[in-house]
Amino acid sequence: MAKCPTCRKEVETPNKEWKLGKIQIKQYECCGKKFREYVKMI
Ligand SMILES: [Zn+2]
Repeated sequence: MAKCPTCRKEVETPNKEWKLGKIQIKQYECCGKKFREYVKMI
Protein backbone atom coordinates (compact mmCIF):
# COMPACT_ATOMS: atom_id res chain seq x y z
CA MET A 1 0.00 0.00 0.00
CA ALA A 2 1.29 3.46 -0.87
CA LYS A 3 0.04 6.99 -0.62
CA CYS A 4 -0.60 8.98 -3.75
CA PRO A 5 1.62 12.09 -3.64
CA THR A 6 -1.09 14.10 -5.36
CA CYS A 7 -4.35 13.29 -3.56
CA ARG A 8 -2.96 11.51 -0.47
CA LYS A 9 -5.24 8.59 -1.06
CA GLU A 10 -3.94 5.16 -0.24
CA VAL A 11 -3.62 2.92 -3.24
CA GLU A 12 -3.84 -0.72 -2.28
CA THR A 13 -2.84 -2.63 -5.35
CA PRO A 14 0.25 -1.89 -7.37
CA ASN A 15 -0.30 -2.13 -11.10
CA LYS A 16 3.23 -3.33 -11.59
CA GLU A 17 5.69 -5.06 -9.34
CA TRP A 18 9.21 -6.29 -9.91
CA LYS A 19 12.47 -7.06 -8.20
CA LEU A 20 15.79 -5.37 -8.69
CA GLY A 21 18.43 -7.23 -6.76
CA LYS A 22 17.39 -6.99 -3.14
CA ILE A 23 14.91 -4.23 -3.73
CA GLN A 24 11.29 -4.81 -4.57
CA ILE A 25 9.76 -2.06 -6.64
CA LYS A 26 6.04 -1.48 -6.65
CA GLN A 27 4.52 0.88 -9.13
CA TYR A 28 1.17 2.43 -8.40
CA GLU A 29 -1.03 4.59 -10.50
CA CYS A 30 -3.38 7.30 -9.28
CA CYS A 31 -4.52 10.71 -10.56
CA GLY A 32 -3.16 9.73 -13.95
CA LYS A 33 0.32 9.62 -12.48
CA LYS A 34 2.66 6.81 -11.68
CA PHE A 35 4.62 6.63 -8.50
CA ARG A 36 6.84 3.99 -7.01
CA GLU A 37 7.51 2.43 -3.70
CA TYR A 38 10.80 0.74 -2.91
CA VAL A 39 10.92 -2.07 -0.43
CA LYS A 40 14.23 -3.40 0.79
CA MET A 41 14.23 -7.11 1.23
CA ILE A 42 16.16 -8.49 4.14
ZN1 LIG B 1 -4.32 10.23 -6.41
